[in-house]
Amino acid sequence: MSAAPALLPGDGSEAALAARWAAGERRALRLEDGRALRIIFPGVPGGGAGPDFTGAVLDAGGDVLRGDVELHLAASGWAAHGHTSDPAYARVVLHVVARNDTGALATRHASGRAIPVLVLPPPLAQGAFPPPFTPPCALPAARGAVAAPVLTRLGVRRLRMKAARAQPLVEAAGPGQALHHLALEQLGGTANRAAFAALARRLPLAALLERAEGMPDRPLALAAALKGGAAALVLQRAGLRPMASPAKRLEAAGSLWARLWPDLTPGWPAALAPAAGLAPLRAPGVGRASAVELAVNAVLPVALAAGFWSEGEAAAALAALPSPGTYGRLRRLEGWLGRPFTSAATLQGGLLLHADYCTRGFCGRCPLSG
Ligand code: SF4
Repeated sequence: MSAAPALLPGDGSEAALAARWAAGERRALRLEDGRALRIIFPGVPGGGAGPDFTGAVLDAGGDVLRGDVELHLAASGWAAHGHTSDPAYARVVLHVVARNDTGALATRHASGRAIPVLVLPPPLAQGAFPPPFTPPCALPAARGAVAAPVLTRLGVRRLRMKAARAQPLVEAAGPGQALHHLALEQLGGTANRAAFAALARRLPLAALLERAEGMPDRPLALAAALKGGAAALVLQRAGLRPMASPAKRLEAAGSLWARLWPDLTPGWPAALAPAAGLAPLRAPGVGRASAVELAVNAVLPVALAAGFWSEGEAAAALAALPSPGTYGRLRRLEGWLGRPFTSAATLQGGLLLHADYCTRGFCGRCPLSG
C-alpha cells in the first residue's frame, strides 16, 4: 500500500475498493488491454470464500462478459493469494485492482483463461462517493411496484425443487424417516448439517422411537438416544451460540420428536395437517424462526413429495408462514426491492432469485428486471 491508499476513499483498504466497485462507476473505463469497459451489473458480494462479487454483467468493447469479479489493491495479489490454480476462481471475468504492479494486460488462471484487468480510477474528489448502483429491479420498486407476487411464485418454485430433492428419500425410506432425516439436518444448522444427516441414517426413526418406549420422560429419553447416536460423530462445537450447540439442538429434537411421534408408529405425524401452521413444530428449544425453517425445509417438501398435501395446500401453507429473518447474502437485494421479505414465501423467492439470477450473470433478464 504505497501510492494506492491515497487514491481511495476511506482507509484505502480492499474493503473500500470493493465498496467503490459495488457502488458502480459511471465514468468511461478502460481495461489494461485497451478495450472500453461498461459496468452493466457489478454483481453481488460473494461473502466468505471465493470471488469478491458473483454474477456480474459487463460490456468489454462490445463483448458481454457474465461471471465473477475479484478485487485486489495490487494486481500481484491474485497470485499471492493462490487464485491462479484455485478452481473457485475459474469463473472470474474481471480482475479489478487499484494498482497494476505486474504491468500485465491480463491475469492468468490455470484453466487457460486470460482475465482482463481493470485499474479502477481514483474518485474525482477525496471523500466523494458515487451514488449507489441501481439494478433494473430497483426502478419498479422505487415507483411503488410490489415484488411480493413474483417472489411468492418463485418461492413456490423453490419449494417444488426441495420436494423433488426429498422424493428419493421418501421413496427409499418412507415419509416418516424422510422427515426425521431432513428435520435433523435442519436442526444441525450450517455447522453440523452433514453430521446430523449421518445421525438420521445411523439412528433411524423407528429404532429411535423403540429406544424411548416406556420411558417416563420421553423427550429426555429421545434426546439421550440421539446424543448417544451422535457420540461417534465429529461435531462442530466451537464458535456456536449456546442454543446452537449440538447438545441443545438434540435436546430440542427430543422434545419435538416426542410431540410429533407420540407412540411407536414411525409414519407421517397426524399433527402435521395443512392448516395446522407452526403450532405442531413449536417445542422447548424450537423457537419461531427454527419452526419456520423446519416447515420450509423439512415438513413442506416431504408432505409434497409423499403426496400428503396437494401443491395448492403446500403453497398456501408456505404463504401463511412468517419470515424467519433475512439472510445476510440477501441484504442488498432486499434494499433494492424495497424490503419485501416479510414472509417465508417471499424470502424463499428471494433466495431463488439471488442464486439463479443475481449471482449467475442474469441481471436484466430476471423476472423482476422490468
Ligand atoms: S438479477 Fe434481477 S433481482 Fe437480481 S439484482 Fe438484477 S434485476 Fe435485481
